[in-house]
Amino acid sequence: MSMKPLRVVSFLAVALVSVAVSAQPPGRQIELNIGEIRDGLHVVTTGAGVSPVFVFLATDEGILLVDPPNPTVANLLKPALDERFPDQPVRYVVESHYHWDHVGGTRQFADTAEFVAHENMAAFLAGTLSEAPPPGNTRDTDGDNRLSREEALTGTRANFDRFDTNEDDFLTPEEINADIEPPTILFSGDHEIEIGGYRVQLLWARNRHTNDLIDVYFPDHGVLFAGDYIWINRMCCNFAFDERPMSVWIESLRALEELDFDILINSHFASGGKDDLVAFRVWLETLEAAVSAGIADGLTLEQMQEQLTFDAYSDWAGYEQQLPTMIESAYLSLTRYSAAP
Ligand SMILES: [Zn+2]
Repeated sequence: MSMKPLRVVSFLAVALVSVAVSAQPPGRQIELNIGEIRDGLHVVTTGAGVSPVFVFLATDEGILLVDPPNPTVANLLKPALDERFPDQPVRYVVESHYHWDHVGGTRQFADTAEFVAHENMAAFLAGTLSEAPPPGNTRDTDGDNRLSREEALTGTRANFDRFDTNEDDFLTPEEINADIEPPTILFSGDHEIEIGGYRVQLLWARNRHTNDLIDVYFPDHGVLFAGDYIWINRMCCNFAFDERPMSVWIESLRALEELDFDILINSHFASGGKDDLVAFRVWLETLEAAVSAGIADGLTLEQMQEQLTFDAYSDWAGYEQQLPTMIESAYLSLTRYSAAP
């Protein structure tokens, strides 16, 4: 197929619902843009920036929904699905991992759905904040199992007031996870669901990002839904590779390249094709080689951040701002986390 996958997605992405939500601050609107990729498999985007992108498969036997990200989106999505697919209830909600920015809109579907996740997710939902840190760099630094406003960073801080239902100015794990429906179907390793004659494969991402993370592969559609460790034409947010060796990431990306797909839906930012996955893996290998060489030459992190440039990637989003962070992430991965599991 010669058509560029990204264009397939944007061509078909028709606005189904476009609603201003009064709960949002003035000027901020949540929009659901729902587009069909192929044969009942749809992608939903929710606005600009890092807003999560998610997918659902509508079939004669019901709907399989992956990662409705938050209650606001779920409250818009549910009536939109009911209207468009009146005889097809949401039968499965796939939960990719425990992070609230991916599965914070699952509870709304509890009336009809089973919730499917990797077995490791249960321990995260029951865990303390140090056992199950929120997404991004947020950490319970004083170890009291609640987050102050200062400890909450990025999206967790932006959503602080929404989570803080008892208004005591601290977030407990229970408050952060309040909108996440616990999984009812747990599996280890990989898992396949068949619905409406289509296969949906849930592939455990092993020790990448969080150890409950799964990728969702639609082999009959040639589509892979994956995220939180693959960025397309972008330097972003690797957080020292989630405190894992970057070689683990590279290995995992190579394994995904073996799958037969031509559309990659990324859970944040832009989507693309398998060539974008390959390009990202090559970028990580390039970065790993350069930083390894710098370490071997006795350079400090600061010297590498000053000296290393990667001109071939200068048109990637975030190149200027994020490159020092990426170099630091690689440095930490290669020095501190190289022996991690
Ligand atoms: Zn995540």
